Amino acid sequence: MQRDKKTVMITTTGCVDCYVDVKILKDYFADIYHYDVTDNYSKADIIMILGCIATQYVEDDTRALIDYITTQKREDAELVVLGCISKVRPEFTPSQERTTLPLDEIHDLLQQGDLTNPVVPYSPDSFVEADFFQAKKERKLQAFQQYAESAPKPYRNRLAAVAYQKIFEIFRHYTDFMGTKISPCSGRSALLRISLGCKNYCSYCAIKRARGQVRSKPLPQLMDQVHQILAAGYTDIVLTGTNIGDYGKDLGLDLLDLLDRLVHLEAPLRIRMRNLHPKWVIANIDEFLKLLGSGKFLFVASPIQSGNDRILKLMNRGYGAEEFLAGMREIHRRCPAVILETHVIVGFPGETEAEFEDSLRIIDEEIFDHIVINRYTERPGTKAASFMDKNPEKVIWARYKRMLLKKLVSRPLRQLKALYRLNYGSY
Ligand code: SF4
Repeated sequence: MQRDKKTVMITTTGCVDCYVDVKILKDYFADIYHYDVTDNYSKADIIMILGCIATQYVEDDTRALIDYITTQKREDAELVVLGCISKVRPEFTPSQERTTLPLDEIHDLLQQGDLTNPVVPYSPDSFVEADFFQAKKERKLQAFQQYAESAPKPYRNRLAAVAYQKIFEIFRHYTDFMGTKISPCSGRSALLRISLGCKNYCSYCAIKRARGQVRSKPLPQLMDQVHQILAAGYTDIVLTGTNIGDYGKDLGLDLLDLLDRLVHLEAPLRIRMRNLHPKWVIANIDEFLKLLGSGKFLFVASPIQSGNDRILKLMNRGYGAEEFLAGMREIHRRCPAVILETHVIVGFPGETEAEFEDSLRIIDEEIFDHIVINRYTERPGTKAASFMDKNPEKVIWARYKRMLLKKLVSRPLRQLKALYRLNYGSY
């Protein structure tokens, strides 16, 4: 008797690179094992979650999704958790002792990265379950209430606290919306994962523990994939990887080699770059400026993480704030059409109020169209987790709020223009 086809659901709480992993796994189960692939966990025989642990609050989401699916899935369905959480927080993933899946094969597939040439459209909203999302919103609210309770005196009385909460919620939703719209990826872009892993050892980072050393995709294969993406009708290509600045370092190549090939392609192409380490920008600024001058670049995201050199040293980032900002100023001056994004971590252990002010001043630079602000959260097994002079939660929240509010009122028109150009405009 023909056994009914098995059904698998694969989802992630992770980053853009995990979207590529999800696509690879969906193709693998469909092509190799002839499974049906579904987005509905109640229909699935096997549910696979690629769980993220980049920050404590994303880890909370991942664990909440695991708990949620565990209670909601069919009793006979199997739940398998992979991704960074399985490497950094295996204690929070279900045992895989009795799994029927070829896990070693799957690990190898994810470790190698996509040796196939999938066209991976960026479509963020197909992964998260509606009611799980509702639960996530409630968790965010709880996180804020904790903050409201630790807020300075005037907000202690009920009415003021509620009013304050509502205003802040509106801000949060607005920033979340802007964050999804002013991003390296939009519904018109396809993802090109050029490498996995990285060569750096940032003291706060758990991703490196999960993704390991850099493994780059050979250039000829990448160019084949680019042609497939263009043939599929996409003009926007997002170069992604754990740290794309390390692309090619394991192959005797450099990211410049790939960018040069892309710029000289006879095709209407727009390049978006995410996770570009500032060290690479500083080291290659002259050649990069020449390539940016081609007009083929739409978006560059390079995370500065702090505006203070002592904190950058503690983070083991390997550059000074001014040398990076000087490069970005030059990019902004000579290629104003390129949308620039950076990331800042607030509340890093030992960060003083004055050092935080240095990060706050990044906004005054008026270089960046978008700044992603992250609250420092301790990650297991990282060097920063052993640092003694940790900032209290309420200090971290207060700095986060200050920077968020300052960012919001800084050049709103420029933010809206970037939003329009990335999602709707004809560039
Ligand atoms: S560059 Fe630093 S933060 Fe980024 S993945 Fe590598 S170690 Fe982590």
